Amino acid sequence: DTSVSLSTPTIRVRPLTCTETRRGDQQVVHSLGDGAVHVSAARHDATFGFSAVFDAGASQEAVFEGSGMRQLVELAIDGFSCTVFAFGQTGSGKTYTLMGPLAQSETQPASPALLGLMQRSFTCLLEQSRSRGSDLALSASYLEIYNEQVRDLLSPGPPCALPLRWSKTRGFYVENQLSVEFESLEAIVSLLLQGSQRRRTSAHALNRHSSRSHALLTIHIRSRAASACPSKQGTLCFVDLAGSERVKETGSSGELSVEANSINRSLLALGKSWGTRPGSPAGPHRIPVTSFVAHPPAGHCISLLAKPRGKRTHIPYRDSKLTRLLARSLGGSGITLMVACISPSSRCLSETLSTLHYASRARSVTTRP
Ligand code: ADP
Ligand code: MG
Repeated sequence: DTSVSLSTPTIRVRPLTCTETRRGDQQVVHSLGDGAVHVSAARHDATFGFSAVFDAGASQEAVFEGSGMRQLVELAIDGFSCTVFAFGQTGSGKTYTLMGPLAQSETQPASPALLGLMQRSFTCLLEQSRSRGSDLALSASYLEIYNEQVRDLLSPGPPCALPLRWSKTRGFYVENQLSVEFESLEAIVSLLLQGSQRRRTSAHALNRHSSRSHALLTIHIRSRAASACPSKQGTLCFVDLAGSERVKETGSSGELSVEANSINRSLLALGKSWGTRPGSPAGPHRIPVTSFVAHPPAGHCISLLAKPRGKRTHIPYRDSKLTRLLARSLGGSGITLMVACISPSSRCLSETLSTLHYASRARSVTTRP
């Protein structure tokens, strides 16, 4: 086995919020340029290297263009299973990066400059569809995973858990999941808003609920052209992962520990599927990588994880619903883009270090020649 470093996640450090500034939090995370992130505090001083780092001054557009998101959309149109993951602790900017501040206030539409990776990708997708004479059939599904239960965020009525099934032809799929066709930006943005609103209002402890659940918006792209081979069906999936922070044990009820367990389980399974810690002995969970997309501009992480013929992949799909749902993206011919979100505040130091370690782990991917 030879470990090769193929790719690293994109890092996004958000600015200090007004509250953080007001209470005097120090900024302990600095971008040094060339993909280096420096964390400095009294007892910690560490530098991490990644392919792309966006700091507080980076615009939403810069993140879209510089992370490789546009290329990911194009690959999805070409028939690949593409996934973008946003991870990091609660409040680190995952939802902001994916959707912009619009998710925080439905009444006032966000300024176009603040739209997130999702809306920018939809625009790009619809432009491409139009330029191809609208031969792309587009539909969307929106799910959340909370305590290892899968719920449909698009279906009306009270949220109920849907069963996850497996079939030879479809792989893992969610039974009775709604998939809604759309042809305009307004239509897909409205689906996104409806779904995110449902995600937030489906529990009493609103904030906690959304930060303890994973949300997956998947765009299915099918070519209508008669000449297209039937296998040419791409997907573009946006995953807003549950906050990666440890749920405090103090005063934790049974419910809290169930939550913590299921989140830990899915993040761990995902981490394993991304590779193992550099320097650790060969584990059973490494992804054999035979090729990766070499042409995207330097400065972002897109890796093509291709399953070599006749070889077994050891992705721990069974470990969690999240990895089962993402089986196609994590193995097969999936292409993933990872965005690690970071708060610069001194109060978040330990979670920041843990996110950076988690992100570093995604760098080491193994090939089995
Ligand atoms: P998460 O989804 O990781 O819990 P949010 O996306 O909700 O975090 O962000 C937490 C807060 O920080 C929000 O008020 C959000 O508007 C703000 N924020 C996050 N990222 C940025 C950014 N890059 N620029 C400005 N504000 C940001
Ligand atoms: Mg969020």
